[in-house]
Amino acid sequence: MALSLNSSALMLQVSELAERQHYPAGALYVVATPIGNAADITVRALHVLALVGRIAAEETRNTSQLLARYGISKPSIAVHEHNECSAAERVIEHLHNGERIACVSDAGTPGISDPGARLVDAVCKAGLPVIPLPGASALTTALSAAGAWVSGFSFIGFLPTKAKQRATQLRALANHPLAIVFYEAPHRIVETTRALAEAFGNAREILIARELTKLHESLHHCTLAEGPSWLEEDATRQRGEFVLVVQGAPEKEAADDTHDALLGTLLEELSVKSATRIAATLTGAPRNALYERALQLSKLGSEDEGAE
Ligand code: SAM
Repeated sequence: MALSLNSSALMLQVSELAERQHYPAGALYVVATPIGNAADITVRALHVLALVGRIAAEETRNTSQLLARYGISKPSIAVHEHNECSAAERVIEHLHNGERIACVSDAGTPGISDPGARLVDAVCKAGLPVIPLPGASALTTALSAAGAWVSGFSFIGFLPTKAKQRATQLRALANHPLAIVFYEAPHRIVETTRALAEAFGNAREILIARELTKLHESLHHCTLAEGPSWLEEDATRQRGEFVLVVQGAPEKEAADDTHDALLGTLLEELSVKSATRIAATLTGAPRNALYERALQLSKLGSEDEGAE
């Protein structure tokens, strides 16, 4: 839809708001970009991307294509998982020369399951300013549509890809009282939702948010028991990018299992009986309850090993 005269005037006013802010030279600007729909970029992000001398980007070709949509073209520095520290040195050199540099990732907010955090560390350590520009993230986009059952949350991002490590991490989270947010790739989405039900039980709520802001966006609420079969019913439900938001542990579970981390660690080396004895000595908790829980944990552990 073309902008009307009134909305053009409004855009101009908003652009002026972005321009009026002071943008110090020699600073790193951490700029969020869209997670799907290219229109989800802020006016201030566009202003800063046009202002900076250089762009530190996860994948320079993707970023050039995105920026071309906004009529912006800038020299870039590749900053990805495998070169973040050495690339940081180059960025700092340019910043010392008084350049402004923007850091962007392939999509969404840098540093959120994306490169950026180590660059930020290095720039801070060099005593130079880091200026964040807020914008899209799959994390906040999914949470904004989750509902009131998410009153607080913890963000995990991607789980380990190996079944045993994934089960160990999930076991450690099983009693976490807050909602937990995961990112997942399409080829692992079914097995991950299955692993969530195994670790957290069948009853908790899950939001399966797929292809947010894109043409095939879908947000599906169900229980952990229903998640895998819902995904398997239709192959298109397994395509694209996913955010999973899982309800936190009910209060009772959270209280019952406060000693899981300790028991889990002890069980890696000891029998159920020995782990119980040491945990009881260390915590003063009732031995019977600890024994029951240690049994459950050790059973879960051997199932995971079988799954590998
Ligand atoms: N930095 C990004 C952010 O702020 O959300 C995340 C980057 S991470 C490498 C990519 C993962 O984020 C995807 O595998 C998916 O789990 C999630 N994600 C990114 N875009 C998404 C979208 N449009 N819909 C659902 N999930 C998305």
